[in-house]
This record gives sequence, structure tokens and C-alpha cells, in this order.
Amino acid sequence: MNSTFSIGFDIGGTHIRAALYGTEELAQATAMAAGEVASGGIPEPMARHREEVGSQRTPRHMVRRIRGMVEQLCSGQGLDRADDVTIGIGIAALFAGRNGHVAVSPHLRWRDEPFGELVRESLGAQTTVLNDCTAATYGEHCVGAGAACDDLLAVFIGTGIGAGMVLGGHLYQGSTGCAGELGHFRVAHGDDAPRCHCGMRGCVEAFIGGHYLTERARRELGGGMVSAATEIAGSITKLHPGHLDQAASHGDRYALELFAEVAEFFAVALGHGVSLLNPSRLLLGGGMLLNMPVLQAHIANALEVAGNRALLDPLELRTCALGDDAGLLGSALLAAGLPVSGPNHDT
Ligand SMILES: [Zn+2]
Repeated sequence: MNSTFSIGFDIGGTHIRAALYGTEELAQATAMAAGEVASGGIPEPMARHREEVGSQRTPRHMVRRIRGMVEQLCSGQGLDRADDVTIGIGIAALFAGRNGHVAVSPHLRWRDEPFGELVRESLGAQTTVLNDCTAATYGEHCVGAGAACDDLLAVFIGTGIGAGMVLGGHLYQGSTGCAGELGHFRVAHGDDAPRCHCGMRGCVEAFIGGHYLTERARRELGGGMVSAATEIAGSITKLHPGHLDQAASHGDRYALELFAEVAEFFAVALGHGVSLLNPSRLLLGGGMLLNMPVLQAHIANALEVAGNRALLDPLELRTCALGDDAGLLGSALLAAGLPVSGPNHDT
């Protein structure tokens, strides 16, 4: 532990969120979670901030805004930023190296941007930049549903799909910080497979990512198929996947058939991930899945037959515990060098 405070950022395509934590509190929470002692809930930040990404989203704008938020969070607590504050930034991006150079961020519409360099120029050399799903996985590993688990795969379904992993007790980020692109596992081939924003067809994200599932349901229900989800939503243009789950819970045939199909494709991708990594625990999370118990049950059922029993039988399936705070906590913890018990990340 090399700081008294740590700020975690979670930068997605819609919102920038930040939270200031006391590192002593974070250290206590990780120690309790590692011992599987009830920690009394999610560690609460001393202060938090959230704003929309909006149009001022070039890397230089973003760094200026991050700096402003750091100053605001610190001054609100009477802290001098130069004193003892580490900063971790989880961002929805694929990197071209371990220095935070962004190869591409479809959500922010960045390509080949020296984000890490700009961040360190503005905020200091100790600032950590990492993928948002990697950060969320680390948060879950330290103080959430992945605690006390050395071999963990966490998969998040939001607008798209991301994943992160802890292998042998170490956060694994890959050679360039891009490990975990499970959303682009191809699970269907041919010209009729749905097109993914990455340019390929048949990626699992194009079946079950929140954006794609919403688009498909709106298109099919607008084209004459019938579901109670339309009524629940009020209109097709307002329909989102949560409405489909509500309809499915009442036996709606359209929603149940759709879930059976997409859960099967998702389970194929999960089965590949499990076969490759042999984790002891698989976490499912992300904004879209949070309030979708019927879809979660379909996924659990489909996973039962998605791989070899030798890998699936000992696998523990859990839902993520930290919700939207996972990325904030993971970034703050990693930046602060927590937990201190060992070199538990590969940076
Ligand atoms: Zn794709």
C-alpha cells in the first residue's frame, strides 16, 4: 500500500464515473473478503462523481476532465492531490500496449490514441490505465463475488460483452492489455449470422449484447411477431431486454424462444472460455443481466451442456456482487497496489 487515498475511474461510452476511497478501508475490505468473512457489504467511497461523456470526448478533453474530477474529489475532502492519492482509470478500450496507448475504443470513437501518455503527463507517472472489464474483474476478485478464488473468469453483458480473468491468483491482462475479448468469439458462421460492430459476423456479442438484443426484438416485434414485452414496454421504441425478461417470466413464447436461442450461443462462448482457462469460478455480471433472472436461468441451463464435464462439474457459477461499483473499486485497488499480501497482478 503506497498511498492513503485512491481514486477509481470507470469510463464507458455513456458515463464517466469516479470514486475516492481511503486505502486503509480498502485494505481491510480485501483482507476480510480474502478470509471469506462477511465484510458488511460493498466498500463505500468517501466521495463519488458521475457525469455524461457528452461531446467533449477527445483524449485531450477526457484527460482535462479527469484531472478536474480528481481535483474536485480531493478538494471536497480537504486533500491536496499531490499528497498520497493514487489514480486508476478503467476505460472501455482495446490497447496497443501496456502503457495505456488505445488501439481502438468504439464507444468513445477513438483510434490509435496515446491516452496513457496524456494521462501520465497530466496526473503523474503512477496513474494506472486498464480495460474497464479487467478493472471490474479485479474489483470482484478483491472484494466481491470472486473473493478467495485464484482462478476466475468474469463475463459482463452490457451494451456489448467483455470479460476479465484472474489466473493462478494473478490478474491477467494479456500482452497488450486486451485479454478477455470473449464477446468476439464467433459462435455462428454464414451470411445470415448477425453482423457485429467489430466487422465480423456471428460474434456472440451480436446475439446477446444488450444493444443487439434490443435491436433484434424491436425489429422482429415491429415486423409482426407478437410478445407481451411490447405491452410491458408501452411501445416498441421503448422496449429493452428487461421487458423481455418480464414477459418471459409470465410464459411469453417469443421471449422464451429468443432467450433459449441466445443463451445457447452465449453458453458456447462461455464453454470455450472455461475449456481454455479451467477456472474454478465463473462470474456473470453487467448492467443488462442484473434484472434478468429468466435469462440468467437460461444461461445456467445452457452452460450445463456447453463443455466437458471434467471442467463443468467443479465450476462454480455466481452472479457479480458489486454492480456498477466493480470497475471503480478494481481501478482504485489496483492503483493502490492492493491487496498487499503479494504480487497479485501482472503489471
Ligand atoms: Zn465482433
